[in-house]
Amino acid sequence: MTAPAPVLLITGAGRGIGAATARLAAARGWDVVVNYARDAAAAEGVAADVRRAGRRAIAVAADVADEPAVLAMFARIDAEVGPLSGLVNNAGIVAMKARLEEMSVERWQRMWAVNIGGSLLCAREAVRRMSTRHGGGGGAIVNLSSVAARLGAPGMYVDYAASKGAIDTFTQGLAQEVAAEGIRVNAVRPGIIDTDIHAASGDRQRPQAAAATIPMQRPGTADEIAAAIVWLLSAEASYTTGAILDVGGGR
Ligand code: NAP
Repeated sequence: MTAPAPVLLITGAGRGIGAATARLAAARGWDVVVNYARDAAAAEGVAADVRRAGRRAIAVAADVADEPAVLAMFARIDAEVGPLSGLVNNAGIVAMKARLEEMSVERWQRMWAVNIGGSLLCAREAVRRMSTRHGGGGGAIVNLSSVAARLGAPGMYVDYAASKGAIDTFTQGLAQEVAAEGIRVNAVRPGIIDTDIHAASGDRQRPQAAAATIPMQRPGTADEIAAAIVWLLSAEASYTTGAILDVGGGR
């Protein structure tokens, strides 16, 4: 009897880096749970691509900042595809380019609830299932940080940069907390990647406009970030935990 394929949950996988990761993970043998917030059609399209690659897929709506919705998503994974052995905390948001003195508390609360709270919440549910301490079979978690955590994003979105700094710290702490329980925890720090996220900061052309400031003279692609994520999830990274991998073209 062949072993069942490992099951991977990717948050925010309807487009951009999450969608590219879903497609590559399917090609590497993962069954994929495609989480999304609003765009069901996009998520169903990614799930269909996973199935075309010969793997199982379900698209599941849940705002990662909404605890009851996240608990319902994990319950559905347990019932329909589990047991889970991989999590990519990819869902993340930016807001309009602004200086600190122009930002509202509501903006910060939403950004931190999604970028930080959503990642901690999904990781908590994954650890409850994957940790050998709870009878699980182990697994791997990859968190999406940003080079903004190092650079601070002055004049653009220092709040977003701070949220990604929190992800770096969380990655290192959780990695040590669960290292002896069969779970590896790592982060990828993308540089400027050509996705739709830049429209949300009011700067849709940012990847092309910033090319000259990037040592490699071009933005990265979602596929290039997916390659790093899927490697960190794989057995090839079996001794890698607590690592924060810059994938920024030298930035
Ligand atoms: P994107 O193109 O804007 O896609 C974001 C995805 O996240 C969408 O599919 C969206 O789903 C989903 N999402 C947003 N809020 C959500 C929520 N509350 N719950 C569940 N899903 C939610 O973004 P991306 O560029 O691929 O970025 C992915 C990750 O990489 C983010 O964490 C981002 O901060 C990080 N990153 C990106 C860059 C870059 O230059 N692109 C650089 C550094 C780091 P719906 O469409 O259904 O709303």
